Amino acid sequence: MDHEVEAALRAFVRDSGFADRGAVITDLDGTAVLEREGRVHVAPEVEAGLKLLSDLGRPVAINTLRFPLNVVRTFGRAWGAITAAPLPLVTLNGAQTGYLVHASGDAVVFEELDATPLTDTDVEEVLRGVAGMVEGGVHDLLLFHYPRDWTAGEHIWTPDPGRADAARAKYRSASEVFAAPMPELRARLLERELCMIFLLVDLPQDRLMAYQHARPSSFVTRGGIDKLAGAERLAGLLGFDLAQSVGAGDTPMDIFLRGCGLAVQVGPVPLEHRGLSGTVRVPDSAALGAVLHRLAALQSGVDA
Ligand SMILES: [Mg+2]
Repeated sequence: MDHEVEAALRAFVRDSGFADRGAVITDLDGTAVLEREGRVHVAPEVEAGLKLLSDLGRPVAINTLRFPLNVVRTFGRAWGAITAAPLPLVTLNGAQTGYLVHASGDAVVFEELDATPLTDTDVEEVLRGVAGMVEGGVHDLLLFHYPRDWTAGEHIWTPDPGRADAARAKYRSASEVFAAPMPELRARLLERELCMIFLLVDLPQDRLMAYQHARPSSFVTRGGIDKLAGAERLAGLLGFDLAQSVGAGDTPMDIFLRGCGLAVQVGPVPLEHRGLSGTVRVPDSAALGAVLHRLAALQSGVDA
């Protein structure tokens, strides 16, 4: 292990309350998860490291942009190998927290702890932006939305019926892709609570500028909600101390690293988010696994 990383891990375990109040909270994509031949799975080194820390009594939690049904389908089994206990997670960029729990038989389900759904005003603001684009002749846009009812999964709207089949083929995780006029979209969005909307617009940068008010290609949650706010709520609900915890992430979306005692930055993207007492940088998820393994050894005093 890199000398600086080793020193940072030793200092964190020695000087923090990690051993009795801390948790490990990790992003999935690009951090803990590998994509190989179109299939995603938890890196074996990360799975092993998380299991060691979980066995030592440290809570392990996920903090992801993914929606709960997708986490259930994609990772339910992998996390089952780490712990038999319910697995806490922050989903949808901080908008919904809950547990993965084992239901009857082999099934894994999501149980919500809390959520901060969009208000009608938030939704109307998005609709105004979308209407402006559609009236301006922009048809290559997709509006992804995620109901609070996790069993509903992911829904995608397109203004153009001719694009629905292509979207269906591309976004296989979606429960539904539909094309409809704006009034129907409005009714659909307002009929139930939504945790997040994601607007994907395929336009050259210069044309995008004209529609900036609609926040193209951005993730819309209730104001003030992000992965840090979600992690803070989860810590409060579960009774762990985020400032004594280890966080791992790989992109600027992983702002929750700022609330963690030790931040582990994974991968090639430069990040400004630093931990409250320490920050280490590792090249990939295998190296994250080695960090977790080392933390477990240091905490158990095997190699301190
Ligand atoms: Mg990521």
